[in-house]
Amino acid sequence: MTNLRGYKIAKIRGVDITIHFSLIFLLFYVILAASAQFPLVVKQSGLDASKVTGTASIWSIIFAIGLFFSVLLHEFGHVIVAQSLGVKVKAVTLMMLGGVSSMEKMPERPYAEFKVSIVGPLVSFGIAGFLFGLLNVTASVDVALFCYWLSRVNLVIGIFNLIPALPLDGGRALRSILAVSKGGTKATETSVRIAKGISWGLGLIGLFGFNLLLMLIAVFIYSAANQESLFSRNKDLLRGLRARDVVRRVGQIPERETVESAAEEMLRFKDRVLVVLTHSEPRTVLRLDFLKRIPRGQWSQVRVSEVMEKPSRTMNINDLLEQALPELMSGGIIMVQDEEKIAGVIEYRDLAEVIDFRNLDTSVQQKKAA
Ligand SMILES: [Zn+2]
Repeated sequence: MTNLRGYKIAKIRGVDITIHFSLIFLLFYVILAASAQFPLVVKQSGLDASKVTGTASIWSIIFAIGLFFSVLLHEFGHVIVAQSLGVKVKAVTLMMLGGVSSMEKMPERPYAEFKVSIVGPLVSFGIAGFLFGLLNVTASVDVALFCYWLSRVNLVIGIFNLIPALPLDGGRALRSILAVSKGGTKATETSVRIAKGISWGLGLIGLFGFNLLLMLIAVFIYSAANQESLFSRNKDLLRGLRARDVVRRVGQIPERETVESAAEEMLRFKDRVLVVLTHSEPRTVLRLDFLKRIPRGQWSQVRVSEVMEKPSRTMNINDLLEQALPELMSGGIIMVQDEEKIAGVIEYRDLAEVIDFRNLDTSVQQKKAA
């Protein structure tokens, strides 16, 4: 199934492995760059170039595959430690700058996040060490070249991820250490400030060194750090709030109805979302965005069942909202059930008012205290 996160390719230890679309671009870039660098790598390796079989393009493809599996192993280091701490891991998405694991809430035990994050770079260093060992015992020039090239890259991946800038592993490890003395929210704020400083530095180095990749990385770190700080602030503001406090009642429509009737129902309810009544579980929803993708002329022929989608998560009306924050912040819809009945849906915009007023409340209290 294709979704916003990417394309699912496998499932290991109950975790979906998906590929983000940006990885396809990266793959081309890696193959091009690797094939351009190939002669230099052979020279630096000190191996006898005349004994190397295969062309630069074949080597660059082999290298790209090796890189792909290196990143996957790094990511699975995180997954295995997280699972051992009781964290549910839903998916690992391989994207342009490595991988991202979608995990449920990290346990608020001290150093939990430290353990989960530090293991990634350790895996990369482990791969580098293993390949380096193999390089020293193999008699084949080709195997030696492969080991030399990939061990260097794993070393770089390990070092890069140790940079203490959120959301990189080093930044997460740092936040976890700071959280022990400062508490979660303060630790995130400090880590975000450090990450922004580092991204400015990297961006300037990239700018003056004409290094486009470094500039992209800087922009990525900066915006991801911003997202982390927004996430942590929202989590704080939503503490103690339950689904029932913000659930929004919406219209319902049977899956056999046409898109035309769905549009009328949306108008009647003045809401961009409808709950679709299906025979099978889990229940689904229909969004105006999806409906608009159908040409107007076909509205009376297309059935709701053809355009409905699964909600990002289903929760009980008494569940704490905090756990659904990642889905809400990435634009998902939460379906809320009250025992067997559907109570309604929750979207990020339903939180806006609560967040605004809780923010206002904090400001008023602060002023009074000062
Ligand atoms: Zn990592």
